[in-house]
Amino acid sequence: MSHLDRMRSALAASGAPAFIVTDLANLRWLTGFTGTFGQAIVSGSAAVLISDSRYTLQAAEQAPDFAVRTYANPVDGVDVLLEELRAAGIDRPAFDKANVTVATLQRWEAKLTGMTLGAADDPIGRLRAVKDADEVALIRRACRLADQCMEQLLGRIRPGVTEKQLAWEIEVFFHSQGAGMAFPAIVVSGERSARPHGVPSDKPLEAGDFVTFDFGASVEGYCSDITRTVALGCPSDRQREIYAEVLKAQLAALAAIAPGASGKAVDGVARGSLEQAGLAQYFGHGLGHGLGALVHDAGRLSPTMDWTLEPGQVMTVEPGVYIEGLGGVRIEDDVLVTADGCEILTRFPKELICL
Ligand code: ZN
Ligand code: ZN
Repeated sequence: MSHLDRMRSALAASGAPAFIVTDLANLRWLTGFTGTFGQAIVSGSAAVLISDSRYTLQAAEQAPDFAVRTYANPVDGVDVLLEELRAAGIDRPAFDKANVTVATLQRWEAKLTGMTLGAADDPIGRLRAVKDADEVALIRRACRLADQCMEQLLGRIRPGVTEKQLAWEIEVFFHSQGAGMAFPAIVVSGERSARPHGVPSDKPLEAGDFVTFDFGASVEGYCSDITRTVALGCPSDRQREIYAEVLKAQLAALAAIAPGASGKAVDGVARGSLEQAGLAQYFGHGLGHGLGALVHDAGRLSPTMDWTLEPGQVMTVEPGVYIEGLGGVRIEDDVLVTADGCEILTRFPKELICL
């Protein structure tokens, strides 16, 4: 089923006669259009993509299922939206209340005369969470590149090289492979590895450091997201123990992933494992997130997530332990939820590597 057909089914189920899609990631998923400005109108019979004259050719090429309407200055985009809604016979469009700003809504309310606007939950996020075969193929390619990048990095990790230099190596590798970065790479070492989302610094690596790498490739707009922590030199008993417990928690969570399992339950498996080791207090973030066109895509594995997993979802599984003054460990894989469990898409080894 095309993404447009899936959107129409969701609309029919929600009871909304039409929807104005404004979120750019949703717009891309729905239409194929990758420009930085646009909106789509979808009803049971209409499918219109509105953008501006910068994108006239690109939109027509990328969104063949949509009637494309572009406009140039000094035309006001809200007037175009009104025209297209009227032409499609729509007078009760719903919109994503989490994405439309107060300013935009005020402009719509002033100009969309005769329309009843309905603030609604985003119907696309949940649809986007379940990937089709083409999307999974791109994520697989992005995961393969992440594995290869980690492999290549092993040869570069040594005392004296800085976090920033290693982050640059990651960037160069992905670009040399024709891919992009899913997000700015995280490289943190020593005490700085206790910062889960630390920004690479000029700190040189030193013997005894834990070094955490968290990065991903972007392949035709689809992301991977891998984290590995390695030790430089001979790790202490405490470092070995922490690493082993994080790995144990990650393996337990991976084994708990299956259709029907809730995000809360899978998170609880990892958290419970760390609890037994007396380390749960150092695991502050959620266990994982959906992965797709956005690196933090729809869906979460977290203590507050009631959604249950479905085959076709791609999730990260990334427990971590971060101890101020000592350092941190995180191990992150990307998995595809299958009919009876999950397939791990990132394959780089997870035993503690000491360099
Ligand atoms: Zn990550
Ligand atoms: Zn992640």
